[in-house]
Amino acid sequence: MQRLTVLGSTGSIGKSTLDVVARHPDRYQITALTANQQDELLFEQCQRFHPRYAVLLDETASERLKKNLQIAGIATEVLCGTAALEQVSVLPEVDAVMAAIVGAAGMPPTLAAAKAGKKILLANKETLVLAGHLFMDAVHRSGSALLPIDSEHNAIFQALPRDYSGDMRSSGVSKILLTASGGPFRNTPIEQLQNVTPEQACAHPNWSMGRKISVDSASMMNKGLEVIEAHWLFNASADDIQVVVHPQSVIHSMVQYVDGSVLAQLGNPDMRTPIAFALAYPERIAAGVAPLDLFQIAKLDFVAPDFVRFPCLGLAYQALRAGGTVPALLNAANEVAVAAFLDRKIAFLDIPSLIESVLTSVARQEVNALKDVLDADAAARMAAQEWVTG
Ligand code: NAD
Ligand code: MG
Repeated sequence: MQRLTVLGSTGSIGKSTLDVVARHPDRYQITALTANQQDELLFEQCQRFHPRYAVLLDETASERLKKNLQIAGIATEVLCGTAALEQVSVLPEVDAVMAAIVGAAGMPPTLAAAKAGKKILLANKETLVLAGHLFMDAVHRSGSALLPIDSEHNAIFQALPRDYSGDMRSSGVSKILLTASGGPFRNTPIEQLQNVTPEQACAHPNWSMGRKISVDSASMMNKGLEVIEAHWLFNASADDIQVVVHPQSVIHSMVQYVDGSVLAQLGNPDMRTPIAFALAYPERIAAGVAPLDLFQIAKLDFVAPDFVRFPCLGLAYQALRAGGTVPALLNAANEVAVAAFLDRKIAFLDIPSLIESVLTSVARQEVNALKDVLDADAAARMAAQEWVTG
């Protein structure tokens, strides 16, 4: 029996995780569920999974949840606040932590879980973008098992040798081919991009996801963040990672070897596949995902990414090459920009302009400790807010 904490259980990844868990009550048990403020959904999840703890960030929502659980006679203990997120990530009785909070807010509890040696199912890519060095150090030191949930990285993990040492060259790997759907604006005339709405940006052609990552997919910042994520997970340099636009989202990424072989992982675009893979690794369990119908798909296309249409992708490569706190600045500026776009305060094409301005105005620092990352994150958020209001 594996006991789980699900950070961000009310989100898109969190719900898919609970869907897979519910299919295997003999294998998985929920110890803690967490959410930002959606107490009603969290209440339903508590009714269904009877966790020992439920955490909400919002105090009013947590009071409501407490009351409703009491009325329903459910013994789940309700905790509130960011410290509680870390608390439920390091509990001695917890075996694995699903890191599925969105944004930089997901980093502290994920890092805490790594330090505590928990098995980590990593959906929160922002942890690696912000604090990749510190996080990977913590994983190596504690001996945590780290399993990527992001579909591309999960595919790469599956296509790499089982005993991959972290050294591409000695493993015969020549390149990582990171696939991208190209998002909803792959073919939109560039002059129309200025006026696209949050609704259009969130209407992803292949995946149903949270709003932040949907906008990131539309700007291709998501792929940029994933390049940085792949760098840390697989010890690959920016030059070793090639983005390949593949609109069908059937191949979830590939690994190219020196002998000319390319290994790919295919499947329907459904996050329950990588989630089930990571939960059961090295075994395989059913995920409720329909089998891939190759005859219906019939055709797979590949094109090179367009760095002019999608400046965010180039900015992310730049940030990875610059290193230090620059990826943290990129991430923070992007979070502010995406929130402002969703609030209709800035236009879609302002997102890369805002990020570029923050990267030029806030100085790069070395990352020696968590404080360096948090300071960079705060400085970039402040500069980005000024850009939005100024
Ligand atoms: P979502 O917006 O659907 O859900 C986010 C979850 O985090 C919710 O439970 C919410 O309550 C919680 N949350 C939000 N802000 C919080 C805060 N400040 N503190 C604590 N909790 C907070 O997001 P999602 O689409 O499920 O994505 C979650 C993570 O997984 C992101 O990092 C995303 O990049 C990554 N990811 C998602 C997908 C996908 O298909 N949705 C695919 C790959 C990677
Ligand atoms: Mg992805």
